[in-house]
Amino acid sequence: SAKQSGRDRCSFFNVQIRKAAEERERIEHHLRDALAQNEFSVVYQPKVHMTTGRIIGSEALLRWNNPELGQVSPFRFVPLAEECGLMPAIGEFVLQRSLSDMRDMRRSGHDLTIAINVSPVQFQADFFTDRTLGVLGESNFPLERVELEITESALGASPQQIRQQMMPLKDEGVSFAIDDFGTGFSNLGTLTSLPFDTLKIDRSFVTRIDEDEERRNLVQVILLMARQLNMKTVAEGIETEMERRYLGTWGANIGQGYLWSPPVSLAAFRELVEQETVFDMSGTMQSRTSA
Ligand code: C2E
Ligand code: MG
Ligand code: MG
Ligand code: MG
Repeated sequence: SAKQSGRDRCSFFNVQIRKAAEERERIEHHLRDALAQNEFSVVYQPKVHMTTGRIIGSEALLRWNNPELGQVSPFRFVPLAEECGLMPAIGEFVLQRSLSDMRDMRRSGHDLTIAINVSPVQFQADFFTDRTLGVLGESNFPLERVELEITESALGASPQQIRQQMMPLKDEGVSFAIDDFGTGFSNLGTLTSLPFDTLKIDRSFVTRIDEDEERRNLVQVILLMARQLNMKTVAEGIETEMERRYLGTWGANIGQGYLWSPPVSLAAFRELVEQETVFDMSGTMQSRTSA
């Protein structure tokens, strides 16, 4: 009967919910020790200048490898870390590690930018600005080369509050990017009144752009808007030459995606950068630099 099948479905969902809750608890349990156990690492994905094809810097992306759970995606553990109050500490780790890595690269002559993700919860904590200034101050890395990426969804707080969090950092030369732009349903008027420097177009708008006219129109409008607002633009998730060509033609300033490289270890990132330098000197990369 209908009643019977309804009950079955209900108990099916109960089992699912219980399983999900158990899984969560298991991850949370390991997450609490992850920092102390040294299970986090940071990988770097090149950001490429769209017209010169050169690597201008990278985005730092967090990785968690637990002996029992294996590699866990940040999409899964970042929300949990936020709920458990662990994100400020983890965020500080990312900041420290990536700045010290980029300082080392700088010492060997590579002048690169670094973009670091800041979670909404991390950003909204009162102590965020002071703590971040502290870590940045100790890093021996030029703050004009540091960009903080904040997702649109972080911007639930009042505009005044957001501005207050941003300004002391901006005064020191740090820039800010809106991450995953177009996915957060935020108030466009508020968003554009805040002192953001960069707009990152979400990958969902970039993917298979050649197959979808609506998507193409939307991306053109976003790029036009950014230009009118004097914002730099980054297109994330570029995987194909076709996508690169569209985004480049329409004036996206910087590209990021598997077309160039996935996020890689510091050593591999250094190799990518150094390879480029060698090619430049021999002149064999003409086609890349004359795009
Ligand atoms: P995000 O900041 O938007 O980062 C871009 C994500 O897209 C990364 O996933 C990256 O590996 C992936 N990606 C880049 N290019 C391509 C491409 O061409 N194709 C495809 N399919 N994917 C591409 P990842 O590393 O798994 O990170 C996922 C999200 O987790 C990030 O999205 C960010 O929101 C969050 N996250 C990562 N690291 C941190 C961190 O240190 N702190 C905070 N708060 N969040 C982080
Ligand atoms: Mg990001
Ligand atoms: Mg993004
Ligand atoms: Mg994204």
